[in-house]
Amino acid sequence: MTATITKPEIDFAALAAPGVRGLDPYQPGKPIEEVQREYGLTEVIKLASNENPLGPSPKAQAAVRALADKLALYPDGAGFELKNALAAHCGVPASGITLGDGSDNLMQLLAQAFLGPGRNAVMSQYAFAAYPIVVRAVGAELRVAPAQGPDGAMPYGHDLDAMLALIDADTRLVFVANPNNPTGTWTRRDELLQFLDAVPEGTLAVLDEAYFEYVDEADYPNGARLLERYPNLVVLRTFSKAYGLAGLRVGYALSHPAVADLMNRVRMPFNVNALAQAAALAALGDQDHVRKAVALNREQRAELERTFAAMNLTFIPSVGNFITIEVGDAAAVFDALLRRGVIVRPIANYGMPKHLRVTVGLPEENRRLVEALKQVSKLS
Ligand SMILES: *Cc1c(COP(=O)(O)O)cnc(C)c1O
Repeated sequence: MTATITKPEIDFAALAAPGVRGLDPYQPGKPIEEVQREYGLTEVIKLASNENPLGPSPKAQAAVRALADKLALYPDGAGFELKNALAAHCGVPASGITLGDGSDNLMQLLAQAFLGPGRNAVMSQYAFAAYPIVVRAVGAELRVAPAQGPDGAMPYGHDLDAMLALIDADTRLVFVANPNNPTGTWTRRDELLQFLDAVPEGTLAVLDEAYFEYVDEADYPNGARLLERYPNLVVLRTFSKAYGLAGLRVGYALSHPAVADLMNRVRMPFNVNALAQAAALAALGDQDHVRKAVALNREQRAELERTFAAMNLTFIPSVGNFITIEVGDAAAVFDALLRRGVIVRPIANYGMPKHLRVTVGLPEENRRLVEALKQVSKLS
């Protein structure tokens, strides 16, 4: 028997919490299977979600397999082993580490613990799309500072002074994505220190380092080293990008232990599952694999940037594992690429309707992307 679906007579949207009502749903990258189905294609590549084209360490895969017999048991809610390994890896006390179901989850915990009606959070224009969701969902106000213009010192990058100007006594969080997604822009050490010196004690500076491992720049700051100097700093990192474990959802926050304690009070006790903890631990122990992924990205990103330049395709220079290109009618180009079996990411939801974000893939994937882009530009 199938239940008949009746037209809802209840206005559920009116019942939703005020902050939730105003939210737009997050638009994730299109899955490969969906594009295969919709366009009748077999050979589809996805360069849409900044995933690691090498995948995770084989040691992480083995750790997952080894747990297949133990799935009836709850995970370690305290994440003891993983936290200790991260403490050694990052050079911080384990008491200042909070584990999350992806770093998205840590942003949520921060919002739940520190925001709410009457409070606000500050971020930059073009900053990562998860920040507005977590802020508004808890009924807090989101303040967006204009980014640097296309002709700024760091085109499309955060304008830290503009962000500081929006902070007031009710600002509990200020988000700095370093580097930022989708722009690939970053903040230098001296600029960041100046900013952190100016952020008031009543505001936590949330430094999102999701792409930390990929960045080569000499004056790129390591947030973990700044925690002692800035007790109101929270550093977010993830296993989703350079570690290639996006499907398992593990992130971690580094903070003052008292901040970790508050985040842990709102955290669901088993937010990081057993497979995810075991895989992350094994992946952390295989730094050779991370170095391989980073080296491949460095080489392929440079190759793509050279090719784009040769094609007269404008792009925003990136220090991450993705590049944002300016293509004009991005929705049309996105669709034309899909028809050629190449999934990239439109970023009109960031207020960038002329740009597309492409993840740096394997050499053959990047060649297919370039080939498809050349065909599409010939058509227009
Ligand atoms: C991908 C990404 C994250 C990480 O998200 P997870 O929830 O850890 O997968 C965080 N911040 C930025 C800016 C990102 O691009």
